[in-house]
Amino acid sequence: DGLLQGSLLWAIDRTLTAMGGRCLRRWIEAPLMDRAAVEQRQAVVSSLVEQRALRQALRRLLRPMGDLERLAGRAGAGHAGARDLVAIADGLERLPQLAAQLKGQLTDGPEWLHALFNPHPQLQELATSVSNTLLETPPLSLSEGGLIHDGVDPLLDGLRNKLDDQDAWLAQQEQQERQLSGISTLKLQHHRTFGYFLAVSKAKAATVPDHWIRRQTLANEERFITPELKEREGRIFQLRARACQREYELFVQLREQVGAMATLIREAARAVAGLDALTGLADVAATSNFCAPELTNSRELTLTAARHPVVEQLLVGIPFTPNAVALGNGTDLVVLTGPNASGKSCYLRQRGLIQLLAQIGSWVPAKQARIGIADRIFTRVGAVDDLAAGQSTFMVEMAETANILHHATSRSLVLLDEIGRGTATFDGLSIAWAVSEHLAEELHSRSVFATHYHELNALAGERHNVANFQVLVEETGDDLLFLHQVSPGGASRSYGIEAARLAGVPAAVVQRARQVLD
Ligand code: ADP
Repeated sequence: DGLLQGSLLWAIDRTLTAMGGRCLRRWIEAPLMDRAAVEQRQAVVSSLVEQRALRQALRRLLRPMGDLERLAGRAGAGHAGARDLVAIADGLERLPQLAAQLKGQLTDGPEWLHALFNPHPQLQELATSVSNTLLETPPLSLSEGGLIHDGVDPLLDGLRNKLDDQDAWLAQQEQQERQLSGISTLKLQHHRTFGYFLAVSKAKAATVPDHWIRRQTLANEERFITPELKEREGRIFQLRARACQREYELFVQLREQVGAMATLIREAARAVAGLDALTGLADVAATSNFCAPELTNSRELTLTAARHPVVEQLLVGIPFTPNAVALGNGTDLVVLTGPNASGKSCYLRQRGLIQLLAQIGSWVPAKQARIGIADRIFTRVGAVDDLAAGQSTFMVEMAETANILHHATSRSLVLLDEIGRGTATFDGLSIAWAVSEHLAEELHSRSVFATHYHELNALAGERHNVANFQVLVEETGDDLLFLHQVSPGGASRSYGIEAARLAGVPAAVVQRARQVLD
């Protein structure tokens, strides 16, 4: 239903930066078909699983990296604010530390990662130039000053010196007016809209000197100006405006300087994002008992003690029962039978998820894995009833099946969770039978077909590359105990009537159903 919770991404995303998270998502959406490319990623994951200290050191450096990739994009488009430039510099300044960690530890790995081994010296110069120019925590606004360090620009320094002189004048003016008026509590203050004024308490307001002009009356305070103060205010205002303008010009120059290097920054950022994704995968692999799959160019999919990466995390207090599979090495089609809720879907989906994980370069939840690169993973799972589009469940199911039969190859992995259920029993069984035969005989795709039609078990007797597997249940008196254990052989019946009984269908009806079945 489109939620992150419960998805594969949710189960394996241990990235520390937003850009790393996006990278992992891209990988899942576009798994690789080039074995060498997969192995390059896997080599990094494996090194980082084995070198725990290195992994943790890298994670410490990655965490504060922020979203350098997006910031580089903004700088390239000329939209970056002062805080963005500071954040970019901050990220770039960490690159040498990353490089120092990686040096000699990770030699293999994808080409793009090499950008991190020897960070471009120009990026360091840029970072230095940004941190020398901009204050550490500049304001959001670019037009009100407070952005640029002293000593960066003689013109700005000159303006600031003049402003300092004005400040000194104001302080001295305050003293002088205090003496003239004899009001020791007098204060010279500034307000954004009213400018400079002299503030005295209500009680003293009657005794102010003649040259003061009343400006504003508040509850406890009277505010005055003097002609001299007004004249100064104009000058100060002009100086300040020029200084702000100059700061803005200097900022824009700097932003252009950063923007000109956006491509280089983005390249480094992408590499950091990728490293974050790989380090995250290593973290899951190391802490969730995954294994490094051996990738082959054969059609093999051999898994020992494999688990569903998502379901095993969702089960609370119940251990996940691992299961094996061997496909593409004699057996192309597995017909999987078992009662409702016994674990057929789980078994089937975990094949697909493991294949996908292997092809993004990840380790996989299994004890051992030999995995041939697949050209596609086809699935026909769940009952997605596209009623809005006016399609019945059965038609959707058939359309998906048609698509698979038209496009699957011997290198594909095909996962079918029930087909042929939305029509008359014998129509459905016949379709399921013919589809299975076609997959096994014509397409030779590696397929798992989970079905209630235990009649399909007869196929294994006729075709050498079809095997029957069943999810074991134990009948204990009146109850069914789900073992979630997949073992060779076909279920001789489908336990549908037991399911009906467990669900509370009246005993008389269940009894009658048994008679009819017999
Ligand atoms: P089916 O497809 O046979 O109706 P599911 O695959 O949907 O059954 O499994 C039903 C439930 O059984 C799952 O939601 C899961 O909680 C549990 N389950 C399935 N496989 C396993 C397993 N190998 N180990 C532990 N629990 C499992």
